[in-house]
Amino acid sequence: MSAHLYGDYTTPERFLECFMAGLIKRNPGELEFHQAVKEVAESVVPFMFSHKEYFDELILERMTEPDRSIIFRVCWEDDKGKVHVNKGYRVQFNNAIGPYKGGLRFHPSVNLSILKFLGFEQQFKNSLTTLPMGAGKGGSDFNPKDKSDREIMRFCQAYMTELSKYIGEDMDVPAGDIGVGAREISYMFGQYKRINDNFVGVLTGKGISFGGSLIRTEATGYGTVYFTQNMLNHIDDSVAGKRCVISGSGNVAQYAAKKINELGGKVIALSDSSGYILDEEGIDGEKLEFIMDLKNNRRGRISEYAQKFNVGFYANQRPWQVKCDLAFPCATQNELGLEDAKILVGNGVMLVAEGANMPSTIEAVHYFKEHNILFAPAKAANAGGVAISGLEMTQNSMRLSWTSEEVDEKLKSIMGSIHAQCLEYGQNGETVDYLKGANIAGFVKVADAMLAYGVV
Ligand code: NDP
Repeated sequence: MSAHLYGDYTTPERFLECFMAGLIKRNPGELEFHQAVKEVAESVVPFMFSHKEYFDELILERMTEPDRSIIFRVCWEDDKGKVHVNKGYRVQFNNAIGPYKGGLRFHPSVNLSILKFLGFEQQFKNSLTTLPMGAGKGGSDFNPKDKSDREIMRFCQAYMTELSKYIGEDMDVPAGDIGVGAREISYMFGQYKRINDNFVGVLTGKGISFGGSLIRTEATGYGTVYFTQNMLNHIDDSVAGKRCVISGSGNVAQYAAKKINELGGKVIALSDSSGYILDEEGIDGEKLEFIMDLKNNRRGRISEYAQKFNVGFYANQRPWQVKCDLAFPCATQNELGLEDAKILVGNGVMLVAEGANMPSTIEAVHYFKEHNILFAPAKAANAGGVAISGLEMTQNSMRLSWTSEEVDEKLKSIMGSIHAQCLEYGQNGETVDYLKGANIAGFVKVADAMLAYGVV
């Protein structure tokens, strides 16, 4: 047995402690990254104790070190001719099972820690989809709010001018994330094409007229609800008739709401970073269309919904105090803490499904587990988006387009298969630990590929 980086590992607990101490020392101050690794290591380390080959080849140590992190300057001009400088990033985490794949986030909070947490998580998520995709994540601390279309265009072009050196259809295929939707992907794809003069599927989430896949826009939100439906069906229940609370009102939240309505559930709350709205009558039909127009076209605040439909708006609050059966955190990381978890459980929540990436803190996740709340971790629940991105890559390579029905069927089937993988590794007597199941199932495929490659 070869030497290990972190001293003695007589028990999983002791190894975990030493492993995390080493990781924190090597990645100082990267709190979100530490949190994401700890959440996975809590499941994977005990599993590794009965699969020593992963220890001997330092697979977990390797999986927590990105292949490379690229950081660059993005210089652009606003409408008044003033020059601005932002940081641009691409973290290429792991390409053991396919080209690097993962979204780009434009938000002032973006830093290396956040992108490393997202890239790390992406390894497991992409593995769970069953498709051949490695993991990466990128973005910028650029704030797209209050920028004109032309400013967004100039920023996207400047960002892609540098990023284009590091990506390629078989090498690294970015997509959207917070602050990066169809408009931004289009500007970036246009710039890539201009620089390289070739039309290839180097980004996903593209417009339908230039290589995008039908259902990609809907996929993350729909997939989260399909996964939830799988979990409920497993206990002979369903989404129908359930009171649902969703945080966020962006891409994931909107399509989660749409699918919940289609399946007969009732969405009573949505939010944005300024607060939440509560509509006991349900947010569906033209009310949901109002939200989509507000957020996707007019780029307004959610309080406008409260004014228009005469319902409550709760400024600077999260929606977790609203009594519900199903809770869908679909906004951002660490938006659901221990106190929120206590309120949700106190109010009788039965299931929490993470549409966003790492929205629940570790303390909240532990609390849900202690109280036997069905918990769908992000890497399983929100994998539908990247899965359809993978299918967009397939369609681009084949130079054909599948119909909405075909893609939606494939999405359902992939979410069903992720559910089955969670059962395989997470079934615990009568109950299922979905977090453990997703972490181990995601780990095994990547780890086995890395073992096969030898020491690289
Ligand atoms: P959008 O930019 O479309 O929407 C983000 C939503 O979250 C907005 O309502 C925004 O409010 C809110 N939000 C953002 N930051 C905060 C914050 N700090 N506090 C409270 N609310 C906040 O992003 P997406 O819907 O695409 O992404 C949401 C989450 O889902 C992210 O965690 C993302 O990583 C994850 N995800 C997205 C996928 C996709 O396909 N889009 C795929 C897999 C995961 P406001 O408008 O006020 O900023």
